[in-house]
Amino acid sequence: MVVTFPSSGQWIPGSGAPLQTTNPANGEVHAEIGTPSNEEVASACAFAAMSAASIAWRDMKPHKRADILYRIADGVGKSADNLARAQMIENGKTFKECRLQAASAAATFRYFAAACETMEAAVPPSRGDYVTVTTFEPYGVVAAITPWNSPLTMEAQKLAPALAAGNAVVLKPSEITTLPALTLARICEEAGLPSGILSVLPGFGHDVGPALLEQPQVRMVTFTGGTETGRTIAQTAARRLIPAALELGGKSPHIILEDADIAAACDGVVDGIFEGMGQSCVAGSRLFVPRARHDEIVDLLVTKAEAIRLGQPTEPTTDLGPLSSHLHRDKVSQYVDQARKEGANIATGGSRPSGSEFDRGAFYRPTIITGLTNKARVCQEEIFGPVLCVLPFDDEQDLVEQANDTAFGLACGIWTADYRRAWRLARAIDAGTVWINTYKQLSIAVPFGGFKDSGIGREKGLSGMRLYQQAKSIYLSMD
Ligand code: NDP
Repeated sequence: MVVTFPSSGQWIPGSGAPLQTTNPANGEVHAEIGTPSNEEVASACAFAAMSAASIAWRDMKPHKRADILYRIADGVGKSADNLARAQMIENGKTFKECRLQAASAAATFRYFAAACETMEAAVPPSRGDYVTVTTFEPYGVVAAITPWNSPLTMEAQKLAPALAAGNAVVLKPSEITTLPALTLARICEEAGLPSGILSVLPGFGHDVGPALLEQPQVRMVTFTGGTETGRTIAQTAARRLIPAALELGGKSPHIILEDADIAAACDGVVDGIFEGMGQSCVAGSRLFVPRARHDEIVDLLVTKAEAIRLGQPTEPTTDLGPLSSHLHRDKVSQYVDQARKEGANIATGGSRPSGSEFDRGAFYRPTIITGLTNKARVCQEEIFGPVLCVLPFDDEQDLVEQANDTAFGLACGIWTADYRRAWRLARAIDAGTVWINTYKQLSIAVPFGGFKDSGIGREKGLSGMRLYQQAKSIYLSMD
């Protein structure tokens, strides 16, 4: 049976070729999902524009819109197990991690519900005999394109502020992870979101993605994914003169200074790279250590990495499941082979785990690479897998130069007892987020995004709602 999707106010099987989603833990196809034809993409966007402009949505008072978002938050909370299972079965993350992400999605809807009913218009100081008011208007139809690594959190992170801002959203989830978006759409419908305000168009990125972005009704695009896809989307957005919010890849430096609590720092480093099998834009994939402490730190990291339990994502004792697809596992494996060719030492990992429970799944061992320079391909390109490169530094200048010698600028972690030094480094390193004596701590209240090739725009925080609005200034003469 083909799974239907919400488009033009109805759940339809779509006239495109259905896509199959596969459980990466065992290689089994578990769902066949309908996809739209180009005509159905066009009619979904036309219907979304009509719904966004309707009195029922456009003129809805913010506190009433907030009511719907609070109900969505409640629905997400109640269905957290279902949502977590939908994500786990498609991207292989452990149930534990998916469950936490479902809880985070509920909190995101609650945060933007509160923002929706409390955000104010601005009254800039008058410079004459007039009053000026700046209001913040929705774009109308927002296209949201999301990846497979953490669809639960990323879809909430885009939908909640875009809806709070008064837009209609047409969401294109990754072809690898469609079920979380469809489950969320049901929850939105049950919470009373008016018909047509949310459509979900499953399908392949190179097919449904461009078709969606060419629709004249789409007035803004919000995307999370790889930098190359982000560039393609930005080109379309530039041609169409529509704003694009892009949250892209990273090759984030994680730094241990001489005076750090080395045991705590190594725990942070191991979580920072291996959690979610390294399939995280903020994964701390390049570790910088003082040259004199290199071997001691690597030994400790190897011990910790080898203690990680790989297994079926359903098992509570499993720390890490498979990678999100067999194709992606092969890509990660090729990067490690490339490192070998460049003369790397593989301190641990570097292969698939052995054992019958791993035979059919997209598993890969947590891997630590040493003996390369920051110029090596694996130190420059985003692997998006459980692969850590350890690099020695000589002094602070060398550290900053190496840390910033990357196309990316998403995140950075610093472990030290010297807060003045931490502050200096935090300001010197090109990154949208810097963690000091912690890593991957994320809050919906704090703006998030990247420098350089890691993206454009900031999601989250109150400004994360403004991302989905355009300012309108009104002059009212008092003359
Ligand atoms: P993509 O960037 O290609 O995929 C992200 C989303 O964009 C998916 O929904 C995808 O659809 C869609 N998409 C793909 N091509 C287009 C297009 N031309 N127009 C519009 N939408 C499109 O990521 P990949 O899956 O190819 O992963 C490649 C690399 O990107 C990873 O190895 C990793 O390095 C990085 N990445 C970074 C992420 C992050 O969080 N910043 C998340 C995911 C990947 P579909 O899946 O159907 O192709």
